[in-house]
Amino acid sequence: MPQILKAGERAPADGLYRVTHYQHRLPHLVSVIGGTILPLCQKCGDRVHFEIIGPPRETDGLSTDRDFSDDSDGIKRSR
Ligand SMILES: [Zn+2]
Repeated sequence: MPQILKAGERAPADGLYRVTHYQHRLPHLVSVIGGTILPLCQKCGDRVHFEIIGPPRETDGLSTDRDFSDDSDGIKRSR
């Protein structure tokens, strides 16, 4: 069973995640560190979801993704 995670949930493990957006963007991959709160998308908000598909890669970090940049008002942070 694939594990589908929503924005605001905590990544259960380090891994490569497939990110599926609502309408505005094709699915893409990001590497996420376990324990990270999965961010809202700046464009589609909480309609974005995440699916872990494999071990993390050095590329495709979450903080460098254009829809998940750190200085967005739309991202709720827990710390
Ligand atoms: Zn989006």
